[in-house]
Amino acid sequence: MNFLPFAYDEFSGFLPHGHCYLWQSDLLWLHVVSDALIVCSYYSIPFALFYLLIKRKDIQFGWIYAGFGLFIFLCGTTHLLSIWNIWVPDYWLSGIVKAATAVSSVATALLIWPLIPQALAIPSQAELMAANRALADEVQSHRITLHELRKLSSAIEYSSGMVVITDIDSRIQYCNPAFFSITGYRRDEVIGQKVNLIKSDLTSAETYEQLWATLHSGNAWHGEFLNRKKNGDLFWCLESIAPVLDEHDKVTNFVSVIHDISDRKDSEQLICHMAYFDPLTDLPNRSLFSERLDQAIAYAKRNRGLFSVMYLDLDKFKHVNDTLGHTIGDKLLIEVGRRINACLREQETVARLGGDEFAIISLQLHTPADAGDIAQRIIDVVKQALVIDSHSVFVSASIGISVYPDDATDAPQLIKHADDALYTAKRHGRNKFEFYNAAANAKAMRRMMIESHLRKAMDRDEFSLHYQPEIDLKTGRICGAEALLRWNSQLGAIGPDEFILIAEHSGIIAELGVWVLKKACRDFSRPEFSGLNQLKIAINLSARQFKHAGLFADVKRVLEETGFPSNRLQLELTETALMDDVESAIEQMQMLKGLGIELAIDDFGTGFSSLSYLRRFPVDTLKIDKSFVGDLVDADDACIVRSIIGLAHGLKLKVIAEGVETAAQVQLLEEYGCDQAQGYWYAAPAKIEDFCRLFQSKTQV
Ligand code: C2E
Ligand code: CA
Ligand code: CA
Repeated sequence: MNFLPFAYDEFSGFLPHGHCYLWQSDLLWLHVVSDALIVCSYYSIPFALFYLLIKRKDIQFGWIYAGFGLFIFLCGTTHLLSIWNIWVPDYWLSGIVKAATAVSSVATALLIWPLIPQALAIPSQAELMAANRALADEVQSHRITLHELRKLSSAIEYSSGMVVITDIDSRIQYCNPAFFSITGYRRDEVIGQKVNLIKSDLTSAETYEQLWATLHSGNAWHGEFLNRKKNGDLFWCLESIAPVLDEHDKVTNFVSVIHDISDRKDSEQLICHMAYFDPLTDLPNRSLFSERLDQAIAYAKRNRGLFSVMYLDLDKFKHVNDTLGHTIGDKLLIEVGRRINACLREQETVARLGGDEFAIISLQLHTPADAGDIAQRIIDVVKQALVIDSHSVFVSASIGISVYPDDATDAPQLIKHADDALYTAKRHGRNKFEFYNAAANAKAMRRMMIESHLRKAMDRDEFSLHYQPEIDLKTGRICGAEALLRWNSQLGAIGPDEFILIAEHSGIIAELGVWVLKKACRDFSRPEFSGLNQLKIAINLSARQFKHAGLFADVKRVLEETGFPSNRLQLELTETALMDDVESAIEQMQMLKGLGIELAIDDFGTGFSSLSYLRRFPVDTLKIDKSFVGDLVDADDACIVRSIIGLAHGLKLKVIAEGVETAAQVQLLEEYGCDQAQGYWYAAPAKIEDFCRLFQSKTQV
């Protein structure tokens, strides 16, 4: 049977395709069926690949899949054509398809090799699985962390302590509800604000310095702050502040945990108050007194200070208690404590040691006798009638005084000596004070006596003025006089050096000063001493007088009343009086200068006036202190005197040397160019009549 539409070509020797099946007909089916199966499978592969490409657009090397699909498709077609060619000898078509297959197979083969390393770089299934597992672990731990975080943030949210998180500029990023409920602020009022919103400014600057130093060193800080709520109330906080670091150890935030400890502080303060204060009088108790005494000793040691310890005991207290009852007794103690306190300065202490015993520390005394003044003031106020529940009660106090460092330098001895002195005071008849030291006692008593006599001296007309001439060194003539106060006291001779201080202390100096001024102006305008009416008169002003607010008005009034020419009046001021408060001193001096008065600085060289101030003081004259003049033979003092003269002349001031006692001193002063001199060498201070006689005898010469 011939299937073929053409004949066997005997010439070429090739078999027409399909002819072979004539030789073995079974082969036809084997080939056809096999090719058909190959075609089907080959054709299905590109579809599968295209389907894959459409579904997975992100697939890597997608183009190679497409190329491979084409190649397989062409392979399938060659097999299809093999079947076709059994019956139809369409060999050109088969050849072309084969050639196309060859091209695409070569292209695919060539393109696939460079892809292999890249394909190998794609993680394997096992690797992907491992990565997947690691990822799952990570997710799990993240979930645990999240849970932990949720727990922690609920702990913070529900914590009764305040939690504040700030950025590095201290701007608040987060506050928990406790913060809002304690401070009274709302969330929108604090977020983004600086944390010093709640600062009270009552926490010391050192605390903040310490805080920042600790935080900047990367450590947490713990401490106490006094903060302020929105309504202005203060509250004590115990704070722990910690820096939050990032992975590069850089501070990104601060977390503060704050506890309101105001209640604890209040009770601490109460306990402290109870431990240190007497419950009845609310004065310091024995413990606080001991502490204050130790502090006073330490301070006095450092500053070479002088202070006193006083023990006070009420004289008739037991009697009050027994007759009027304890309630009145208690009220009396409270009132006595109040009265003693009123006699003291703020930094001084009065303590109640128990019963009717009080102890006092009076600080920064100039002399031990100052303690006597304070004690006397206390005795005076205590003995005044106390009206308690409509009862007039009279008590008196006895006081024993010891002085640091004269009597003792340690607390137990000072206390013991004060107690001993109190015992003596009681024995000597009560209602008085007594020093432990007999000499101090004598001095204080003398001072009190002088003071009481001074108060009466003016009325008793016991004061007088003496005048000492001031000599012009160029002409040798008297050019002025210094008025020096004398007191003809019933107590005997008391020099102005002593009584002026007491007059200052007791406040009678102002009245005394006006008397001196008036008397001198009158003496030097009296018709019988008309010869003196060209002379200048110098009046001394003590520090207290100079600072007295009424001084200017007093001087002005006296000049008006006496008609004394102001240009003949010179006021002598000491350096110490001027240096206390330089600005107001200059103001006071300018006012006095405005009246036409001359001003001199007395005792120049003994104080510590700075030269820059000296330039600003509107003075006319420097009075060299007599201590330098007295030692003029000494090279150092001569040098000082010469310097003062040079300085004064440089500042266009006159110079007077006082305390000139010898011809040698006069000679040296003349040599140095000193303008004037005063001293026993010329004349001692004398009554106006004697002064006038001296003046006339000198002018007649
Ligand atoms: P002062 O202002 O330095 O007065 C000079 C003192 O030296 C006077 O002492 C005078 O008598 C004394 N004296 C005079 N010549 C010599 C001398 O050659 N050698 C020595 N060693 N001393 C001489 P006096 O009168 O005892 O006065 C003492 C101080 O009392 C005065 O020192 C003055 O600061 C103050 N004073 C005197 N009268 C008054 C006054 O009326 N008011 C005020 N506030 N103080 C006065
Ligand atoms: Ca003087
Ligand atoms: Ca003087």
